[in-house]
Amino acid sequence: MHLTGLNAVELSALVETLGEPPYRGRQIFGALYRRRLRSFEEMMDLPKSFRAALAERATASTLTLESRYISEDGTRRYLMKTHDGLPVETVFIPEERRDTICFSSQSGCPLQCDFCLTAKLGLLRTLTAGEIVEQVVFALNDAYGVGVKTPRGTNLVAMGAGEPFLAFEPLMKALRIMADPAGLYIVPNRVTVSTAGVVPRIRELALIPDRPHLAISLAAPTDEQRDVLMPINRKWPLAELLAACREFELSLKPGERFTFEYVMLDGVNDSDEHARKLANLLNRHQLRAKVNLIPHNPADPLPYRPTPPAQVERFKNLLEAKGVHAYVRRPRGRDIYAACGQLAARRSGNNPQEQTLHQLS
Ligand code: SAH
Repeated sequence: MHLTGLNAVELSALVETLGEPPYRGRQIFGALYRRRLRSFEEMMDLPKSFRAALAERATASTLTLESRYISEDGTRRYLMKTHDGLPVETVFIPEERRDTICFSSQSGCPLQCDFCLTAKLGLLRTLTAGEIVEQVVFALNDAYGVGVKTPRGTNLVAMGAGEPFLAFEPLMKALRIMADPAGLYIVPNRVTVSTAGVVPRIRELALIPDRPHLAISLAAPTDEQRDVLMPINRKWPLAELLAACREFELSLKPGERFTFEYVMLDGVNDSDEHARKLANLLNRHQLRAKVNLIPHNPADPLPYRPTPPAQVERFKNLLEAKGVHAYVRRPRGRDIYAACGQLAARRSGNNPQEQTLHQLS
């Protein structure tokens, strides 16, 4: 039994079966999520005999760090392993105003997006709620120190490996645990979930009051091209996807963010014509959401290059001229395979400051 990933109710049920009073459950909750402890030995406020009883049937944490890579821009990539030996990657992105942690929802990914390196792994398996929470605990501890309060209200993005909406249940459970004021206290308003377009889940999210922000990956303005770049489009084509987006947009409350992501592939989906088609498409569906333009992060053997900055700017201006707000995302951590679409359990980057486990300890 993996205790990280259990909520307050489940923890109190567990301590009850061990014949302990309910406040022990709250103690463990605080140890796991407020103090961010990853082993029973560190929970010194629990009696030794109780810790031994816990250790007999459960473990506090399961992920183990394999390597940590630090980019020249300060971005950190953690390559971890699950108890069954599968890779999990998490990225810490320091920013001027507010840091961001990018976590994975699956080991590998079943979607075959042609421009993404994670796709080459295929799906290994969906992560549990505990494995999702643990990634965040680990990154927070590494960045700020064990249990140290996050200094500037760190943001989370579910934009690592995997399709979060194919991990919907564990993802939502993890988000509820992380939102608890007695624990990590990272509320949904500080979380953004990105989907390649699992339409039924977009509709479902539109009905959930306490939900994270949503981002949709588009990558192409026509079905013909999106079918090739993102095969999920054959299941849920643009008309269906954007109808669900429209519904979602109508459900937005003040202050909620809803964005599109558009990866820019040199000479593939980045012409003036593509920009006009994209703007017309969004306008036709009455969508006001902003478009984040992401220059492609190259990686062998992906057959794409990033759009040159001048054309990215031109593309952005063409969108703006048609009333579509656009923003160019700066790539982070490219040198250590930590940028969007580069997570594939690579052992090193081009110029890595790699620290393996024994170097860290
Ligand atoms: N499966 C989800 C979550 C992954 S988020 C989704 O598709 O939204 C990763 C984001 O990075 C997506 O917007 C994706 O389109 C983009 N991306 C994937 N590979 C990329 C690459 N090589 N360079 C830049 N962006 C990429």
